[in-house]
Amino acid sequence: MIPKKVSSALQETERSMAAYDPDNIFAKILRGEIPCHKIYEDDDALAFLDIMPRSEGHTLVITKSPATNLFDIAADDLCRLMKVVQKLAPELRDAVGADGVLIQQFNGEVAGQTVFHIHVHIVPIKEGVALKPHAGQTADHTALAATAEKIRKKLSA
Ligand code: AMP
Repeated sequence: MIPKKVSSALQETERSMAAYDPDNIFAKILRGEIPCHKIYEDDDALAFLDIMPRSEGHTLVITKSPATNLFDIAADDLCRLMKVVQKLAPELRDAVGADGVLIQQFNGEVAGQTVFHIHVHIVPIKEGVALKPHAGQTADHTALAATAEKIRKKLSA
């Protein structure tokens, strides 16, 4: 017989797993059904520009695992995702001439999460330049494409 504590933990896990919607917009990007301004991809993660950037180079790093947020991602998958965040952050900072980076990650609607596939925001910060609002205005795609190209060049240098 499964102990009560384990059984309720399993039920909680099942509940959060069941909440993952495979038709969310980032799952569609992962499957190539929707385009993105890709800057990096490996076996674990995909990174692309946020279309409503808070600053130039604002990037989203997403896991390839079907996880909604911090509450249902496996610890190993989270580690692999954060490794990619750590690898990309200084490259992004330097590619756009920023001074630092803000890392943001929202969990649940009340916390500001709007896309329910776990992702980490890397937001380059320049001294004295105010950030735009979160998920504010869609940027010009030509400008996004130019930024993505600049970052890819830095990554391959
Ligand atoms: P959040 O779930 O609040 O952490 O934020 C989701 C982010 O995804 C927002 O910053 C949006 O601007 C961004 N976003 C939404 N749709 C797309 C898309 N198709 N491509 C790139 N970024 C997107």
